[in-house]
Amino acid sequence: MSLGEKTSGELNFMNFAVIGYGGQGAWHCDRILNSDVATLSGTYDIREARNEAARAKGIHVYDSLEALLQDTAVDAVVVATPNDSHNALVISALRRGKHVICEKPVDLTVAGFDAMVATAKEMGKVFTVHQNRRWDVDYLAMKGIVESGEIGDLIDIESRIHGSRGIPSDWRCEKAPGGGMILDWGVHLIDQILQIVKDPIVRVVCDTTYITGQEVDDGFFLTLHFASGKRAHIEVATYNFLPMPRFYLRCQSGSALIEDWRKHAQVARLTAWQEKDVTPVQNAAGITRTMAPRDELTLDCYEAPRPTVDVHDFYRNFCAVCGGKGELIVKPAEVRRVLLVMEAAFRSAECHSAVACSI
Ligand code: NAD
Repeated sequence: MSLGEKTSGELNFMNFAVIGYGGQGAWHCDRILNSDVATLSGTYDIREARNEAARAKGIHVYDSLEALLQDTAVDAVVVATPNDSHNALVISALRRGKHVICEKPVDLTVAGFDAMVATAKEMGKVFTVHQNRRWDVDYLAMKGIVESGEIGDLIDIESRIHGSRGIPSDWRCEKAPGGGMILDWGVHLIDQILQIVKDPIVRVVCDTTYITGQEVDDGFFLTLHFASGKRAHIEVATYNFLPMPRFYLRCQSGSALIEDWRKHAQVARLTAWQEKDVTPVQNAAGITRTMAPRDELTLDCYEAPRPTVDVHDFYRNFCAVCGGKGELIVKPAEVRRVLLVMEAAFRSAECHSAVACSI
C-alpha cells in the first residue's frame, strides 16, 4: 500500500503556524500554502531578518512567540528551529492546546522526547515528527524490494549519503544546538532502516569522523546488528569527492543497488546457484574462478520501478489523525527507537567499542 492510499478519504482541514522561519520553516510554510488540508496563519522567528523574509512572501508574522501560541485560530504548530530548542517549544505549544509537528531530530535525548510525548498525552493532542525522508523514492524502492521477497530474505543492507562540502557553517557545526551528522542525517537514515528491518537490535557499533575540524562529527560509520542475524550499515560523509552507492542490498537470492538517489534500483536475481562450466577470469596478475562474473544463465538483471510519492501525505495524515481518523505514519514509538539507536551510536563512538543493547 502506498503512503497516499493510507490517507485517502481521511482529510481533515486545519490551520497551522510555523515557529522558526529558517530554511526548513520556509519549506514548511511553502508546503502548507500548497496543501489541500492546511492553511497558514503565520510564522514567528527570533531573528527580524527572517521575519522580514516571511513578510516579503506575503506571510503573516506574529509579534512574538506568545502571540502565536495565544492565537485560538491556530490548530497546530510546526517547530522548525535548531535542535536544542525543540523540547521547550513543543511542550509550550502542547500546553497551549496545539497539536504539534516537530522537526527532526525531535530531541537530543530520549528522556527529553519522553517528556514531550507525556505532555501530548496529558493534553490530548497529536504530536509527531517530520521524518519526511520516509517519502524518499530511493528508500521506498529498497523497502519495496525487501518486502516483496523477490530476491529472498535480507542478509544485510548498506545505506549511505555522501557530500563533499563539510557541514554548512551554521549551528550544525556546534555541539550545544545539536549539530553533527548523526543528529542531522543519521536520524533520517536510521529511521529508514528501522522501517525496512523491524527486528530487535542487539548491538550497535559506531565510528565518527572529524575530518573538517569541527567540534561535532562530520560523518560516521554505524553498524546495527539485529537479533535475527541481519545487519545494517549506515554511513554519512561530508568529505567524499566521489560518492559510493546510496543503497546496497544483499539478500538470499540476489542483490540490489541504487547508485544515486536520482537513479533507479538495479536488481540482480539469482536463478540458479551453480554453473558447472564457470570459466576462470583473468584479473590483475592472476586468474580466479571465485570472482568470475555471472551471466544471464544464472542471473536475471532488471531495473526496479521507481515508486511515486506525494509529500503532502505527511500533512494529510497528520490532519486526519487530529480529526480522529487513522493513525500517524510517523509514530512516537518509532521515533523513540531511532533516538535510542542514536544514543547507543554516540556511546559506541565515545568508548570506541560495540554497545550491547536491546532496542
Ligand atoms: P535554520 O538555521 O535555517 O533556521 C532556524 C531558524 O529558527 C532561524 O531562522 C532562527 O532564527 C530560528 N529560531 C531559533 N530559535 C528560535 C525560537 N526560539 N523561536 C523562533 N525562532 C527561532 O535551520 P533549519 O535548516 O531551518 O533547521 C531547523 C530545523 O529543521 C532543525 O531541527 C533541522 O534539523 C530541521 N531540518 C529538517 C530537514 C528535513 O528534511 N526534515 C531539513 C533541514 C532542516
